[in-house]
Amino acid sequence: MKICTTKAQIATHSKTLKTQKKTIGFVPTMGALHQGHLSLISKAIQETDHVIVSVFVNPTQFNNTQDLDTYPRTLEADVALLKTLNSNNLSVYAPSAKEVYSSTIEPKGYDFGSLERVMEGAHRPGHFDGVGTVLNLLFRQVQPDAAFFGEKDFQQLQVVKKLVQKEKLSVQIIGCPIFRASSGLAMSSRNVRLSQEHYKVAPQIYRILSKVKEGFNAKSVRHLRAWVEAQFEQEPLLELEYFEMANIKHLKPLLRKRKNQKYRAFIAVWAGDVRLIDNIALN
Ligand code: AMP
Repeated sequence: MKICTTKAQIATHSKTLKTQKKTIGFVPTMGALHQGHLSLISKAIQETDHVIVSVFVNPTQFNNTQDLDTYPRTLEADVALLKTLNSNNLSVYAPSAKEVYSSTIEPKGYDFGSLERVMEGAHRPGHFDGVGTVLNLLFRQVQPDAAFFGEKDFQQLQVVKKLVQKEKLSVQIIGCPIFRASSGLAMSSRNVRLSQEHYKVAPQIYRILSKVKEGFNAKSVRHLRAWVEAQFEQEPLLELEYFEMANIKHLKPLLRKRKNQKYRAFIAVWAGDVRLIDNIALN
């Protein structure tokens, strides 16, 4: 499997694929790959001729230095896992921060409107500027035809669609479903940091989201919100950071349900010192 570590190498690789008239699928990741990532990569392999997976822990999207320092970095294991897909049409781009950013490692200031003022945007100041900055750079370096993102980070998916419009990039953005462990827990690179006892209770998050979905048509927004808060009050190992129900287009918090609108519930929870996010379609 080809592994590029510089932007000159990835540019040459991308150019070669294009001269061979191959479409390029791109899956940006921060590594510590798991089955959730593999589900995106498999979809990309099905839908494009050649897939480039980037493995890069982007410093500018972390608002918490401890989270950045403790983020798992496992490139060798990542490459080994990718090899299990047995694809000849798969390569890796694993650059350093200096390679990606060229000059100063600073985020650009974007205006993503209402998308950046709620949930992850409100609770992780500067996060989406960092995400937008790195993806703009990576898209220009990799030159993909399509890029695949998980609905696990649904707000990010909407931000990326907006970024592509703003930067006038010619890449198609494709959303992929959330991949869960059999317990219901959404796969995440941060799950390896959970203690045994937190790992045991973390599937409660999906159980609670599923109950909200079940009750969504019959119950009021206020009732659902209070019920979720009460559930977390009863679980001392999990601390609720936010729970929101929002319209999927602009992600403004849901006050009153309207017909013909699509809503999702979003949640961020602390399990010890590990922050977990999840979401679910409500209708
Ligand atoms: P990350 O390495 O966490 O930045 O994630 C890279 C990509 O994989 C993002 O588009 C994520 O939304 C996606 N992803 C991470 N976990 C999952 C999951 N459990 N199911 C589906 N996609 C995921």
